[in-house]
Amino acid sequence: MMEENKIKGKNWIKCPNCGYEGEGKKYTRGSLLIEIVLWLLGIIPGLIYSLWRLSNQYIGCPKCEYRYVVKQSSDVKNRKWLLIIAGLFILIVIIATLEFLFTPLF
Ligand SMILES: [Zn+2]
Repeated sequence: MMEENKIKGKNWIKCPNCGYEGEGKKYTRGSLLIEIVLWLLGIIPGLIYSLWRLSNQYIGCPKCEYRYVVKQSSDVKNRKWLLIIAGLFILIVIIATLEFLFTPLF
């Protein structure tokens, strides 16, 4: 029998691979070093890489690192998409501003 009165956290997951049930572990792809280097090169490559890393963040199994775990809560995912949309909006504004600044005046 499963305990029903257990407090379920934000990242509560169920792993179909090893049967683990509990708090998931957050994994992020890519490297922070590359992210810093790209930010030093310019705001656009830095922002693109940061957004790529953000969109590749996932909650996995802390036991076997399995990626496609079953999430018991959905609010985390929704907030992540909001962040990505906000980031893309900022990117568009920056590109538009740069294009305006560098448009040759004839
Ligand atoms: Zn697992």
